[in-house]
Amino acid sequence: MADTGTQIREQIRAVLETFTHPPRAHVQSFGCQLNFCDGEKYKGILQDLGYELTDTPEEADVILFNACAVRAHAESRVIGRLGALKPIYEKNPRLVVGLCGCMAEEEEVRALLRKSYPFVKLVLGAGAMERLPGALAEIYRGEKRAESLDFTGLPDESLPTVRDSGFQASVPVMYGCNNFCTYCIVPYVRGRERSRTPEAIEQEVRVLIGQGYKEILLLGQNVNSYGRGLDEAISFPALLRRLDAIEGDYFIRFMSSHPKDATPELIDTMLGSKHIEHHLHLPVQCGSDRVLKEMNRHYTLETYLKIVDYAREKDPDFGFSSDLIVGFPTETDADFEGTMEIVERVKYDNLYTFIYSRRAGTKAADMEFVCTQEQIAARMSRLLARQREISEDFNKRFLGKNVRFLAEKRDPETGLLLGKTRHGLVLEAPGTPEDIGRLLTVRVTGVKNWALSGELLREDSHAE
Ligand code: SAM
Ligand code: SF4
Repeated sequence: MADTGTQIREQIRAVLETFTHPPRAHVQSFGCQLNFCDGEKYKGILQDLGYELTDTPEEADVILFNACAVRAHAESRVIGRLGALKPIYEKNPRLVVGLCGCMAEEEEVRALLRKSYPFVKLVLGAGAMERLPGALAEIYRGEKRAESLDFTGLPDESLPTVRDSGFQASVPVMYGCNNFCTYCIVPYVRGRERSRTPEAIEQEVRVLIGQGYKEILLLGQNVNSYGRGLDEAISFPALLRRLDAIEGDYFIRFMSSHPKDATPELIDTMLGSKHIEHHLHLPVQCGSDRVLKEMNRHYTLETYLKIVDYAREKDPDFGFSSDLIVGFPTETDADFEGTMEIVERVKYDNLYTFIYSRRAGTKAADMEFVCTQEQIAARMSRLLARQREISEDFNKRFLGKNVRFLAEKRDPETGLLLGKTRHGLVLEAPGTPEDIGRLLTVRVTGVKNWALSGELLREDSHAE
């Protein structure tokens, strides 16, 4: 019979008691916000088992890399960093090195670890967080490897979490993805969509706001399909309204929204809310209907622009940001001109641009490339240069206005606070260390590239 949770804990405790120093664990996350959020749970589990958390891998007894599978280049960097842990392991053979997250779900990656990195003994898939204590216990019992792959369920609601910030918190609302965009590995490594219940989400958000958190970031691969499959049907806008009703002074942000499921109701909910940002991250990916079809995105530029225009009619300052892929295998010069046109038309505040990365097992991996790496690099620099000009120009809409912003950090040399406004724009303003983590009102006095600058208004002033 398998050991119970309590027996596993006792086994681990017994091992940790034999250490001549306090047991320490180091968790490093790579990739998207969801991975960082999972990383906070790994930290919570390890702390609960009796490890102190450390930022220094050299002094750790457990090192976990929680890594992302979306792009090949990022994966190679993680493999390189895992390799760099070998000398640390050789000095301390009791060290447990593990790879977890969606990168661990790839068979190719696991085969490489088995062959070339045998000291990486612990491998946990994106949905196998609860298996961490059991896997550690197996390794302490002398097993050569502990592998657990799972991406079908929801993490246990009672998992402990160590938050990286005391004022910004990520809250997953759903996991997985059903969309199978032809370039993307996510559905293969994070499984099908499943949503947390609204009760569990609301309870978590209430507690966070009660603890003084000022920004709640709701996460999911496609938050707009939140609620499908739950016993009691609920839409994402309905969830937003439920959370927005919680008393307090805080921002609600969320990502990502798939354009095929973004509705006028979503925009109305955002604009009618007290707390939700007036900014939508709406990844268009490409400005060509032909390519969008080959990407299996299920929207056209016309339907995409309808939602942009709807929001801007109601609030001309409404902000959009997007993910864009440059160099999808079949992207021609004409398709790329379409991308330049959509960027011109929407006037995004911010773009997350990615060079297409071939992912084995996806449909696009078998498509033939029609462009060279040089062409792709030239397209990317043209896109970035134009976007910089557009952001700077469009951000001027806030000049002279009072805005609320959350001060996230402060440069001690310049004394400048850096944070984001309710419209999702980066803003800099002089302030004190005590201002960090506060929602403040600022008069916008300047625009620098993609960021606003301004002056704090200490008295309670009206802000947008
Ligand atoms: N689910 C979100 C959506 O569809 O908007 C995005 C999640 S995905 C992890 C984040 C972004 O990575 C995507 O929007 C896409 O731009 C980019 N991406 C995904 N697969 C990629 C690939 N194979 N090559 C380059 N970029 C990719
Ligand atoms: Fe990937 Fe598309 Fe799902 Fe986003 S919607 S995670 S891009 S498959």
